[in-house]
Amino acid sequence: MPLRLAAQPFAKQITAQATEIAARAIAAAHGRSPEIAVVIATSEPDSLLYVDRLLKQVSAIGLAGRRVDLGTTASEAEILAALAALSSDRNVAGIILQSPLPSGVSREIVAAAIAPGKDIDGITHQNAERLADGTHDDSLLPATAAAVMELLRAYEVPLSGRPAVVVGRSAIVGRPVAHLLELAGAHVEVAHSKTPDLGVVTRPAEVLVVAAGVRGLVRGEHVSPGAVVIDVGIHPSGDTIVGDVDAESVEAALGASGGLSPVPGGVGPMTSAVLALHAAQAAERLVRERA
Ligand code: NAD
Repeated sequence: MPLRLAAQPFAKQITAQATEIAARAIAAAHGRSPEIAVVIATSEPDSLLYVDRLLKQVSAIGLAGRRVDLGTTASEAEILAALAALSSDRNVAGIILQSPLPSGVSREIVAAAIAPGKDIDGITHQNAERLADGTHDDSLLPATAAAVMELLRAYEVPLSGRPAVVVGRSAIVGRPVAHLLELAGAHVEVAHSKTPDLGVVTRPAEVLVVAAGVRGLVRGEHVSPGAVVIDVGIHPSGDTIVGDVDAESVEAALGASGGLSPVPGGVGPMTSAVLALHAAQAAERLVRERA
């Protein structure tokens, strides 16, 4: 069996660090917690469940959460106005804009109203550009991309000079992961929905990150023995979730010298921990700037 790159105990350590930073920020603010705002404009059950969990996580590290529900018919102008108001609110440290948005609303356009320093899930153009040129602030990275890197760091997977492949090139996962792997010294290739033969691109990978949003897309024939595979995918399956990787065939192909992150228990919980850390760091930054 390959190594199982589980989030725990590392995610717990990151959450403990977030709790410490949040406590410091609240003490410096004379006991008043800065707020983390989560903006929603959807009624999708999975999304609402995610937001509930997120707000619980914010409160578990000691920070105040603010749920801003704009309704499923919110217009682009209304979402822009709400994000602009939160951006200039002196007590709001971090802003998370939950997907999906109402049809016709451009995520890119509304994200422009988020103050880059409060963009704790790294969705603004400014923070994406800073990542692309390597001048980013770690606390403003897209949380899922940062979580992939945390898992690789936690299990001491060497990256420098190694062939790495990212399947998927979305603005929130695939692209930022590719940039971060490159910054860590890996030789990075990206596969996407137009890639003619996925296996030709993925088999040379010693590190493979899969964020395609297609259940079981990567199978045993797509990987080489000894590779480390990080599965970002989330797909409901009965009362559990499965990923973008077909775990059974991939585990068999990787062998004992390889590694695979589990779903559930891998990127998901690591992402929650990283987002909590970003929230705490934003709270500390806000309190420092206000002083
Ligand atoms: P997305 O739909 O925005 O992007 C998917 C990308 O995969 C696209 O670039 C597309 O070109 C590529 N792709 C699609 N089909 C492909 C194929 N057959 N071969 C190669 N590439 C293909 O998705 P996303 O938002 O990046 O999310 C990807 C997955 O990660 C989803 O399953 C999502 O639920 C999951 N996700 C998990 C977390 C987490 O915290 N664990 C966070 C965000 C997203």
